[in-house]
Amino acid sequence: MKELVVLSGKGGAGKTTVSAALATHWAWRAVLVDADVDGANLHLVLRPRANRATRFMEGKLPRWVSDRCTGCGVCTQVCRFGAIEGGQVARITCEGCGLCAQKCPQGALQMVERHSGDWFVGRTPCGPLVHARLRPGEGNSGKLVALLKEEARGLAARSGLERILCDGPPGAACAATASLAGAAAVLTVADPSSSGLHDLGRVLDLAQRFAVPAYTAVNRADLAPELSDAVDEECRSQGVPVLAHIPFDPAVLHCVDRGVPVSAQPDAPAARVLAKLAAALDDLMGPSESHNGEARGSRRSASDRPLMAGAPTEES
Ligand code: SF4
Ligand code: SF4
Repeated sequence: MKELVVLSGKGGAGKTTVSAALATHWAWRAVLVDADVDGANLHLVLRPRANRATRFMEGKLPRWVSDRCTGCGVCTQVCRFGAIEGGQVARITCEGCGLCAQKCPQGALQMVERHSGDWFVGRTPCGPLVHARLRPGEGNSGKLVALLKEEARGLAARSGLERILCDGPPGAACAATASLAGAAAVLTVADPSSSGLHDLGRVLDLAQRFAVPAYTAVNRADLAPELSDAVDEECRSQGVPVLAHIPFDPAVLHCVDRGVPVSAQPDAPAARVLAKLAAALDDLMGPSESHNGEARGSRRSASDRPLMAGAPTEES
């Protein structure tokens, strides 16, 4: 089983557009993961059905037992984070240290598990999708990403799917690091802008630290040819192949507005480049045996994938 992670150093570079296009070209060969747990949106394009939701419980939070509380104010005094007032907890600032519960003379505060988010498994026209929603202000995004990837690996093993395609989180912090663990390759989606160039460097450094082979696709390359050349140069200097220059294409905006992958308009210029990118990555990921012994490129029968009605099309 091989994992490809799609990363960009910042949001808005086109990572999800690229991931959704790869998903349609690799339909039912990969388990899909949206590891952007703070702002998942792959599900908006691939529209999973039959979602199974599970709570993500991480850390602790004080629960106030109001009828025991005398209003003494000790909890407010001891909390360094200003997160509790007379037993009432502001969860966004509470760090879950438990000091208030320890010091409460009435035992009116009990530390309980914290519901930090939810994660989902659903079926899309392109394969199973694992994604999540972290509640605002919650930490532990890296842990949630690691959990999603673990779930995806189990799902791939059980379903006989040969790959994991992970739409990674933006940036190069904890969640991006977690998404890279165990990856066979990373595709960086670069924006031809000075900030895009800077962020590309951070992601490539990260990939190098994990010793994961990196490839790059430059999105909207024709909008800023000089900066696109600078991205090429940066990649060349780091020995990172640039696999695609995706043109700016109004069809992409149209597809985003409609909530469908750009492959829904296969003749659009960006869709053609993305199809070639998927084929190039297919070759680079190398031959892979699925768990049921089928060779790479084999397709599951229609009866094996009851929800697969083909990738969404402009007509559908
Ligand atoms: S320390 Fe306990 S009893 Fe005192 S105000 Fe806080 S919750 Fe109420
Ligand atoms: S658990 Fe810690 S951070 Fe949260 S309210 Fe209590 S003392 Fe403050």
